[in-house]
Amino acid sequence: MSEELEHVKCLIIGSGPAGYTAAIYAARADLKPVLYTGMLAGGQLTQTTEVENYPGYPEGILGPEMMQNFEKQASRLGTDIRFGYVSSVDFASLPHKVVVDESKTILADTVIISTGASAKWLGLESEQKYNGFGVSACAVCDGFFFRGQDVVIVGAGDTAAEEATYLAKLCRKVYMIVRRDEFRASKAMVHRVLNTPNIEVLYNTETKEILGDGQTVNAVKVINNQTNEETNLDVTGFFVAIGHHPNTEIFRGWINMDETGYIITKPDSSETNIEGVFACGDAQDHIYRQAITAAGSGCMAAIDAERYLAAKEHVVTA
Ligand code: NDP
Repeated sequence: MSEELEHVKCLIIGSGPAGYTAAIYAARADLKPVLYTGMLAGGQLTQTTEVENYPGYPEGILGPEMMQNFEKQASRLGTDIRFGYVSSVDFASLPHKVVVDESKTILADTVIISTGASAKWLGLESEQKYNGFGVSACAVCDGFFFRGQDVVIVGAGDTAAEEATYLAKLCRKVYMIVRRDEFRASKAMVHRVLNTPNIEVLYNTETKEILGDGQTVNAVKVINNQTNEETNLDVTGFFVAIGHHPNTEIFRGWINMDETGYIITKPDSSETNIEGVFACGDAQDHIYRQAITAAGSGCMAAIDAERYLAAKEHVVTA
């Protein structure tokens, strides 16, 4: 099999706010970045409806449109944007080897990982049907649209607890669906949930179906897994907070990660344990996970890559 080799200064993997922001900065620093979009070009925001909390859009903007703007800006400044997914990497020596679509090998002086994370879903058909129309995996992004209304949140970890208390400030009532008879969240977070008057925790409870009129959600059918009793909760919003998984599997064995797969970067930096490889966005951030924080860390990664290359050039030519 003949192998096509291409050598680039800066290879960016992923096309969410982190990847495109890294591309904008890298292009302006003349690193001639090449960006591979991954299978979901534009990332998680292409699956949301309105984004109201990204500064600079006073009237809000649709997620897909916002990501098109990111792409246009990165492209206008000189990023070579390509559709394709990275299937494997070899970070054993410089330049790094990155295989795209299982066929093309790219040699890269620097690699910026911005592969993001994906929300976990329950896997119900009705959850998919109403996604973006009452169903959401991000309370901070979408809670505002349910002001004064009754909603459900599923999950019992720290994210669910945090998002339940966030929603409780906006919504009239929050039903929290917990599948076991206890939380996974830390004691402090559980205390906060249990002391919020408009949160009602339903233990040993699972979601059977999200009900609606074909357009939007109007109820959620739940079942008590001890008694098999079914109940319809009259709500207009259904939030899923059962965890995320970072899209970092292909880097396993090369890049240091925590036990859940989030990439570990050096403090105040996007540097990973591998020279010339930087990480940004949700692939390395399990705490904030916002478009604006991802974009900020993408900027950091491009600046770190540029400084790394400049320092190397200086050593070689000095
Ligand atoms: P976790 O994996 O900690 O919790 C996931 C929760 O979802 C669990 O309670 C689990 O239930 C539940 N769950 C999973 N699958 C299903 C399902 N199919 N149906 C119903 N419930 C389900 O994820 P988090 O996102 O909450 O947290 C991830 C990490 O981030 C944790 O380490 C957490 O501590 C950390 N974090 C820290 C924060 C902070 O410090 N402020 C804020 C947010 C997160 P079960 O318990 O039964 O397995």
